[in-house]
Amino acid sequence: MFAPLKTSMLGRACEKGILEINITDIRDYTQDKHNRTDDYPFGGGGGMVMMPDPVFRSMESLDNKGKLIYMSPRGKVLDEDKIKELSQLDEMIILCGHYEGVDQRILDNYDAEEISIGDYVLTGGELPAMVLIDSVARLLPGVLGNSDSALNESVYSGLLEHPQYTQPREYRGIPVPEVLTSGNHKLIALWKFEQSLRLTKERRPDLFEAFIEDRSRFSKAEKKIIDQVLKND
Ligand code: SAH
Repeated sequence: MFAPLKTSMLGRACEKGILEINITDIRDYTQDKHNRTDDYPFGGGGGMVMMPDPVFRSMESLDNKGKLIYMSPRGKVLDEDKIKELSQLDEMIILCGHYEGVDQRILDNYDAEEISIGDYVLTGGELPAMVLIDSVARLLPGVLGNSDSALNESVYSGLLEHPQYTQPREYRGIPVPEVLTSGNHKLIALWKFEQSLRLTKERRPDLFEAFIEDRSRFSKAEKKIIDQVLKND
């Protein structure tokens, strides 16, 4: 389940020592011969619940004494602020549930923080944990090639990103917008700003309104573009 951690940018971050990820198989900490980690819920209801003992034992086996995060659809939905906050931590422990989830005594004992990746339910916490790890790792210095690009992205910048183009200049008769090949950096920056604004207004009016609220921070040229976008020109 965690194979992606070994490849691409996260793999390189681990090799460089920027990131260290240790995976613990809770099943290794079971004591019965069937290696059972789950049992029927008290009080009935469908499904199975992960038992406290294998989780307590695996927690006790860790050198890591960081904060416990439990991936769970009951948690607060992961967002920019939370990702930034987590990227400041030296270490953390991420508990992945399965079946119907884990025994509440685990969460209470370790004062777990529950984090969701969205309002839908997956079969296990591994993919949500991967989402959390990837988004946090991306903010660590040295993980991306160009370190200042991490916060210059959709949402983090306050706007959605403008369309991107690469070679060739013309593909199947479709040219790249002319301004991008003009070499005029000022015009290019304004074009990107306008495209971002239009896209954000259309798709994320909430972000758009927040972004333009304080007009005083924009240049004259930017203000003109904002007015045009507002008038839908
Ligand atoms: N019975 C639980 C859902 C269990 S889903 C409930 O109704 O709240 C099984 C496991 O998958 C969970 O323990 C959790 O670790 C993980 N999971 C499922 N959906 C998730 C989501 N949206 N965000 C984070 N983790 C999730």
